[in-house]
Amino acid sequence: MTEFITRFAPSPTGFLHLGHAYSALYAYDAARAANGRLHLRIEDIDRTRCKPDFETAIIEDLNWLGIEWDEPLLRQSQRFDAYHSALARLREKNIVYRCFKTRKEVAKAAAQAPHLGADGPEGPQYVGAPLSDGEENDLLEKGAAYAWRLSLARARDALGGDFSKLIFHEEGRGPQGERGSIAATPEIFGDPVIARKDFGTSYHLSSVIDDAAQNITHVIRGEDLFAATHLHRLLQALLDLPTPRYRHHRLITDENGRRFAKRDQAVTLRALRDNGATPADIRRRVGLA
Ligand code: GLU
Repeated sequence: MTEFITRFAPSPTGFLHLGHAYSALYAYDAARAANGRLHLRIEDIDRTRCKPDFETAIIEDLNWLGIEWDEPLLRQSQRFDAYHSALARLREKNIVYRCFKTRKEVAKAAAQAPHLGADGPEGPQYVGAPLSDGEENDLLEKGAAYAWRLSLARARDALGGDFSKLIFHEEGRGPQGERGSIAATPEIFGDPVIARKDFGTSYHLSSVIDDAAQNITHVIRGEDLFAATHLHRLLQALLDLPTPRYRHHRLITDENGRRFAKRDQAVTLRALRDNGATPADIRRRVGLA
């Protein structure tokens, strides 16, 4: 039997709700069905939005749901060294550049470049370029903040003919029903930020590094992250990381078809539990009974 290792990777920025319950139960059931393993990863790189109390609550809620995971738990806030060394490798390959622009300046520059498409998965499709050494040194001396962007053009050059052959395998479905072998089109992001000004890494960079560190064979997550997979596949190629298989799943929505968000207090697992719901009720409610 082929090995099956998946993960549930919540961010401790609020309480888990029905959408999380679906994702966690789906991953847990898949691991059990395959006689495989489930890992828990706490995605807490954003030190301003993530709170230890939410991590404690996540663990409590998962235990209550009856979900078991394999140790060790991976906490991203303890892995900044790994992310920084990956960034250093990309710097050595000369495929990332410092971007000092504000959000507003980025939006303006993207709007003035009509050859670029509509917004990408994370907003304007911005394509920039490194500043001259002189300009950059001036800004650095002044202590100006910068993000690191991945240059898609340079990444394409670095990979040569392999760039257009990047694919990933979708075993679930994307938002448009995408399935099977998918050609990766990371250019939909423009030049993405892979290390943010405020915390020196990004969801994308940390996620691919940790999928490899946890030997994940199957990434199970919501279809809202399907588009990110195009970029993740490119980062895997640039960092010589293995490519797991992907199983994106539908999102759980309310009666109006709106997906749940952290602000929807009524559907947090703790609110439902306080109102007498059992783990079996939650399973039924998300269609995994
Ligand atoms: N931390 C992400 C979230 O809570 C999940 C990322 C992933 O599964 O790749 O939405």
